[in-house]
Amino acid sequence: MSELLDRHRAVLPAWLALYYDSPLELVSGKGCRVQDADGVSYLDFFGGILTNMLGYDIPEVRQAVEQRLRTGVVHTSTLYLIRSQVELAEKVARISGIPDAKVFFTNSGTEANETALLLATHARRSDQVLALRNSYHGRSYAATAVTGNRSWKNSSLSPLNVHYLHGTDRERFPRLSESEYRRFCVEDLRSCLATATATDVACLLVEPIQGVGGFTAAPDGLLREFKQVLDEYGILLISDEVQTGWGRTGETFWGIQAHGVTPDAMTFAKGLGNGLAIGGVVARGDLLDGLPANGISTFGGNPLSTAAASATLDYLLDHDLQANAHRLGGKLISGLRAATEKLSVAGAVRGKGLMFALDLVDPDSGRPSPALAAAALEETRKRRLLIGKGGLYGNTLRMAPPLTLSEGEAEEGLSALVGALEAVDRAQA
Ligand code: PLP
Repeated sequence: MSELLDRHRAVLPAWLALYYDSPLELVSGKGCRVQDADGVSYLDFFGGILTNMLGYDIPEVRQAVEQRLRTGVVHTSTLYLIRSQVELAEKVARISGIPDAKVFFTNSGTEANETALLLATHARRSDQVLALRNSYHGRSYAATAVTGNRSWKNSSLSPLNVHYLHGTDRERFPRLSESEYRRFCVEDLRSCLATATATDVACLLVEPIQGVGGFTAAPDGLLREFKQVLDEYGILLISDEVQTGWGRTGETFWGIQAHGVTPDAMTFAKGLGNGLAIGGVVARGDLLDGLPANGISTFGGNPLSTAAASATLDYLLDHDLQANAHRLGGKLISGLRAATEKLSVAGAVRGKGLMFALDLVDPDSGRPSPALAAAALEETRKRRLLIGKGGLYGNTLRMAPPLTLSEGEAEEGLSALVGALEAVDRAQA
């Protein structure tokens, strides 16, 4: 493994994040488990990186891909009609809840957000964009520009004029009640529009639950209150559902539905191809049709990815995995809260459905501790459990298992996670 790591370091950028002191090479998977090159099996509580929404080697998805491979026509061009692209677009448009929706497929979440920003800035003839503090929207120039998390920003240059809003940082204002915090956020939006922007604003781009940011969320309903203000100005609301879509949050199919509001557009990626690269924008048809130039994305909507995605979506809906996320997520979140109450290294537990997180804090100061989060990640690995890490201060453990998780796997994962946290806690005593 160290040989592969050396080769990796020699030819890939230094900033390309790798988990663990001694990074893993995963070579196979089945259900919610993956195996590394040494034959060690792990329960994957991060679903790849929320990419393997159904887990690994799902026969229905594999067959859809194999069938396409057998035709020999893996990718001629999106200049020709592609049945699976049309079928997938029909399904996504229907379940989006956006009236008269159309869909444009991309290869990643970054490109999906690029497209959404293009639509909004063109429709509104404005380069002004609102985003939330601590957001993450991808790695391109414009997506980085709307990312409100310093550790993910590589450039201080920006093609957009971006203003960051409060909305997901309630923990920083402990003295405010929830309703006071909501009033503060709406006032912050109004004051931003009155003071920071000289011209019209194109859109507000939000993650209903911030993924990379550590699963921090706006209080339910706040985005509806935001939308009422945005509507006064004709500003578009775009929901980045790259992590929160497809029923992961349990209560609702799209994260933003928890706010009782329909956005003008949503972006998606990660889990839809169950491992194959696909992303996209679903938006009001007039917005998508409104771009003036002809265009294609060479690989966006390609036959292989759309076949995998269509089979993934059918599986998800047929097995009502949103309900599974709701049921098991509720148990996992309350179980984690109860088990970590007395641990001095454990801070806040938050999340919804199968998207939940825990902050690691220094027992003496109570301050965020990225070092303890790194130690906890190593401890979970020792217990054959894969999870994620992130957060504004790098001290958040993130869990997002495949939506096919079973009750037994949920218990196994929780017990390994708690065991890891207890080990970190003991080491601090
Ligand atoms: N938006 C959100 C909410 C994300 O979490 C990510 C990736 O983590 C992206 C956009 C970017 O997606 P991609 O890495 O597929 O470009």
